[in-house]
Amino acid sequence: RLETRNLVRHFDGRRVVDDVSLSIRAGQVTCLLGPSGCGKSTTLRMIAGVEMQDSGEIWVDGKLVCDTIFRVPPERREIGLMFQDFALFPHLSVADNVAFGLRQGSKAEKRARVEELLTRVHLIGHIDDYPHQLSGGEQQRVALARALAPRPKIMLMDEPFSGLDNRLRDGIRDETLALLKEENTAVLLVTHEPEEAMRMADEIALMRAGRIVQRGAPYNVYTRPADLAAVAFFSDTN
Ligand code: ATP
Ligand code: MG
Repeated sequence: RLETRNLVRHFDGRRVVDDVSLSIRAGQVTCLLGPSGCGKSTTLRMIAGVEMQDSGEIWVDGKLVCDTIFRVPPERREIGLMFQDFALFPHLSVADNVAFGLRQGSKAEKRARVEELLTRVHLIGHIDDYPHQLSGGEQQRVALARALAPRPKIMLMDEPFSGLDNRLRDGIRDETLALLKEENTAVLLVTHEPEEAMRMADEIALMRAGRIVQRGAPYNVYTRPADLAAVAFFSDTN
């Protein structure tokens, strides 16, 4: 379970993230949805620990991970990351890419985990290939397997499907969602596309100018937008 409490971040005197409080349970997908520049990626980077908040707290499973004086480093937060440029390591095989984040366990245990995940993303036949031998969609699935390999409690995804063509995207979204649910991961997915949020989210958190302006089940947010700006946002991007 991930919780942020009153996260604030300024850039150049501007409040780019303004009092953001979120709570995401295991096995649930929350979509942080909002227009370009509203502060989505900055919020994610603070949770990942690669950016420091000016104030506010981040909690994982009831443990404080970061406030203004205490800070757990990114690699010890049990958080998986998947960003738009999901760059695999070009000099490592598919198997070694997926095994990269696995610190614990014997060689055999690591291998078993790698095979399990590659089977689930339908790429077991490519286990000894290198990234340049795979299509974009296949690379994306390897990146998903890599992010999930260490069994992170929380997965942060920043527009992970935006590099894919439309034909591939729906299938990969559905597969990704199924795998994340199976692994019982708490997911925070950033997108500026209402359609993606409607498809993937258990809960939508609508963000504008650094603030969460509305949250709720996709159907409720879509059919009962909080204000005129939300109506405009939903009708604009179609
Ligand atoms: P997009 O959908 O385009 O990715 P976003 O919601 O992810 O947008 P952020 O990347 O969080 O937006 O940026 C929010 C605001 O903060 C923007 O106005 C951006 O210019 C500003 N910003 C982000 N990072 C920095 C930085 N390192 N220095 C100065 N300003 C920054
Ligand atoms: Mg962004």
